[in-house]
Amino acid sequence: MYSYQAPADLLHDRVILITGAGAGIGRAAAKTFARHGATIILSGRTTKKLEDVYDEIEAEGGPKPAIFPVNLEGAVAKDYDDLANAIREEFGRLDGLLHNAAILGHRTPLEHYDPDSWTRVMQVNAMAPFLLTRSLMPVIRESEDASIIFTSSSVGRKGKAYWGAYAVSKFAVEGMMQVLADELDDADKRIRVNSVNPGATRTAMRALAYPAEDATKNPTPEEIMNVYLYLMGKDSIGVTGQAFNAQGD
Ligand code: NDP
Repeated sequence: MYSYQAPADLLHDRVILITGAGAGIGRAAAKTFARHGATIILSGRTTKKLEDVYDEIEAEGGPKPAIFPVNLEGAVAKDYDDLANAIREEFGRLDGLLHNAAILGHRTPLEHYDPDSWTRVMQVNAMAPFLLTRSLMPVIRESEDASIIFTSSSVGRKGKAYWGAYAVSKFAVEGMMQVLADELDDADKRIRVNSVNPGATRTAMRALAYPAEDATKNPTPEEIMNVYLYLMGKDSIGVTGQAFNAQGD
């Protein structure tokens, strides 16, 4: 699906929430989805970055977005319930949820991994997507056909030395995707749930993980959007419980 060609109006009238929408892959997804007609709920840690993406979408003539800043590290269940209530009030439903925000943490042997840092990574990368999904399910059920995407990583599918909490959190994300997809396959087939491994992509996180590499050899976030579009749009109705690679297998 990495060569999927999305129709221009693929996401017309769809309401999609993206975490980590202020930078990197989340920012590209926000702008790409908006270009295909979606109303984007921009969520993230740094309000200024979200405002910049908001302005960029408006400048391109996209549907008016909304901004809901949330720090996934400190947010508790009530914060997510408040977010869900605000979405219900403003939009009445949610058609798409892209769990994109994450932090890298340290790259170090497991036995030397700082426990506080471990907790932070697990909180942002695994606990927050659980809490957010849990609170948003009622508004997601208001959609005719909804799509939930969890963002994984190659180290979330095969463990690799020194990737510590980041790798473990991504395994958790894959597990969450499978459990939820299986539950909804029984209970509510209108909601599809899948994971995407973006693959090496030119962002701040990639630069942090591989400071010595030539960044230009990796695709930009804009260049890996086809799988995301496929999963958010109607062409993927019925596709659920699957692990995708944005750059092909
Ligand atoms: P970036 O570091 O460029 O962007 C991460 C985004 O997450 C930022 O918008 C950041 O907000 C947000 N974020 C981080 N912490 C929090 C928090 N506590 N609360 C709310 N938002 C937060 O990462 P990428 O774009 O590279 O990564 C996007 C996803 O893709 C991640 O899940 C990552 O694990 C995954 N991935 C990326 C790969 C790559 O090569 N780039 C490869 C494999 C997977 P702010 O800017 O305000 O700090």
